Amino acid sequence: MLNPHPQPVRGRFAPSPSGRMHLGNLFCALLAWLSIRAANGQMILRMEDLDPDRSRLEYAKQIEADLLWLGLPWDEGGLQDNGPYAPYCQSRRQAQYEGFFRRLEKQGLTYPCYCTREELRAACAPHRSEYGPIYSGRCRRLSAGERQTLAQRRNPAIRLCVPDETISFCDGLLGPQQENLARDCGDFILRRSDGVFAYQLAVVADDAGMEIREVVRGQDLLPSTARQIYLYRLLGKTPPQFFHIPLLLSPDGRRLSKRDKDLDLGRLRGRFPHPETLVGHLAHLAGLLPKPEPLSPQELIPYFSWEKVPRHDLTVPKAFF
Ligand code: GLU
Ligand code: ZN
Repeated sequence: MLNPHPQPVRGRFAPSPSGRMHLGNLFCALLAWLSIRAANGQMILRMEDLDPDRSRLEYAKQIEADLLWLGLPWDEGGLQDNGPYAPYCQSRRQAQYEGFFRRLEKQGLTYPCYCTREELRAACAPHRSEYGPIYSGRCRRLSAGERQTLAQRRNPAIRLCVPDETISFCDGLLGPQQENLARDCGDFILRRSDGVFAYQLAVVADDAGMEIREVVRGQDLLPSTARQIYLYRLLGKTPPQFFHIPLLLSPDGRRLSKRDKDLDLGRLRGRFPHPETLVGHLAHLAGLLPKPEPLSPQELIPYFSWEKVPRHDLTVPKAFF
């Protein structure tokens, strides 16, 4: 029997306020928003200002202003901490991360890693997968005595022991995916040596804690997903449905980054005085419109379907420059 009162699906946009948003961030925000709106769900805005060295309050404010200018309002979260799962900024969720971290520690799944950056670079160099460098597990095998000696010299990062197990999941856009934790990624960091919790731990603590059921994000994060699914399991929670969307490439074939000032929202707002024109071009790039017609995100909802969205990287067309 159909559930007469289904829970609305909860999705999120989780930008890092380490610079002005660029076209790629906007592409992600638009698709995440449309997918949720098309399903009559709830959109949560979470600021991923985990790294105090890179995050700025001005950038977070600017992200909110840019999202509102584009016509992408959220239902919950943001700097106002509007909603029952507050706080919605990672910098104020240390207690949640600490709680999750202690649970993993108590289960005996963590260990300190004293490797310096140079040691890691040297040790990992021959062991790279498409998912990045693979940690050798060197510090997992240290004796108590060796740990004690090293502890006098430096603060350790804390790693999670991963099993030799293949994690499978079905991406909403890309279909079946799999990754072996030991072979493709190795024991990964939960807390850095300076005490900052790692993205993998924080994002799972937050998405699980905020009851997020749908995660739309760039394909650059596809390799993180198996690690995150493993963390969901250790937390005793069901992972959300993931959609990993195409990355945008500049005409010379590089991935867009915050350093691409020519495609940041400051420049784009100058180039497109009306947000509908910009949104129309993005919707066309996303396969939602046969030609780039100016439309607001709200007007785009009926055109949205994951089946139309391309699966491969997309080169930014000239219209945006
Ligand atoms: N904060 C991350 C970013 O801006 C997104 C993390 C995620 O969506 O899981 O790239
Ligand atoms: Zn180590």
